[in-house]
Amino acid sequence: KKNIGILTSGGDAQGMNPCVRAVVRMAIARNCNPYLIYEGYQGLVDGGDKIKAAKWSDVSGFLTLGGTLIGTARCMAFRELEGRRTGVLNLIKNGIDALVVIGGDGSLTGADKLRAEWPSHVEALEKDGRISKESADKYRTLMIVGMVGSIDNDLASTDMTIGASSALTRICESVDAILSTALSHQRAFVVEVMGRHCGWLALNAAISTGADYLFIPEAPPKNDDWETAMCNTLKASRDAGKRTSLVIVAEGAIDRNLNPIKAEYVKDVLAQRLGYDTRVTILGHVQRGGAPVHFDRFLGTMQGAEAVEAILRATPETPSPVIGMLENKITTQPLKEAIQLTGEVAASIGRKDFARAMELRSNAFGQ
Ligand code: ADP
Repeated sequence: KKNIGILTSGGDAQGMNPCVRAVVRMAIARNCNPYLIYEGYQGLVDGGDKIKAAKWSDVSGFLTLGGTLIGTARCMAFRELEGRRTGVLNLIKNGIDALVVIGGDGSLTGADKLRAEWPSHVEALEKDGRISKESADKYRTLMIVGMVGSIDNDLASTDMTIGASSALTRICESVDAILSTALSHQRAFVVEVMGRHCGWLALNAAISTGADYLFIPEAPPKNDDWETAMCNTLKASRDAGKRTSLVIVAEGAIDRNLNPIKAEYVKDVLAQRLGYDTRVTILGHVQRGGAPVHFDRFLGTMQGAEAVEAILRATPETPSPVIGMLENKITTQPLKEAIQLTGEVAASIGRKDFARAMELRSNAFGQ
């Protein structure tokens, strides 16, 4: 019988609530005790009433609501060794022997750190007399299970992250709305979408809305004079009779010298060189808002259930997993590897090896 703590951390994402609900209810169904940890790692560090045993009814209504009802936070203390040690103490005090973290790249990096350091924290707490030898022996290992709650779809080792489908749906709805007014006025629009250092949302939005041009971090323009290439492409479609122009810019877009490409600058180029009446729309937080679409409810639920199964299957030697989805199958892979591969995308871009970045993203980008 396991005591399973659940927290959501980092940027919120639609589908986190269905995932929390699934973990709580699957835990109860499997005769375990779920604990809700409020406000992400901050709740773990603060302890007290931020960690509460959860009943079946505590997650009623979670399936259809966006955001995260158990709260999330950006927690500075957890970035420090001492903060993580306090978190370990609070877990042990509450008798929690497995921790489920639903969060983005940063949160799972923190989870991986906690996993690696766990035995040393327990040893230090015992040495300082903050826990008994009995407790130390009982909690030598902790099973940490990660799930990727992120609108960005930026983690290697899963085709889709929880929240990405909802954010993409929101982007498509917004761009559709923009295009109907653009059409009336023959305007050009430059739309900036979220994604941090990942171009998945921008790429898929561009395909799904029929954009004329796209900028993403993993595949910068091949030429330094990308402005001319962009203007030629847009002008060619206008010459062929199109009344609007749409450029999608990922928030992390860069040129091949790693300089940022910003929506405002793209607008100026179009206005000055082509004389188009050009507007910028930065979609912002509307992308993370609203109810999770079907797929995120499904993904959160299936992965949440699998997280509990992974905990019950684990032996002390089992590496902490991240639950994902590859080729429509729910998967369990080592958390450590997923974090390393994800880090390598950023490193590849940093050394201008864009082909490698695309290759590493290929599970999410498809062909
Ligand atoms: P996301 O999980 O959405 O990527 P952040 O990068 O803000 O969001 O990370 C969320 C939280 O995870 C941070 O506030 C911090 O508490 C923890 N965290 C992130 N990166 C690390 C790290 N390298 N080491 C320890 N904790 C981290």
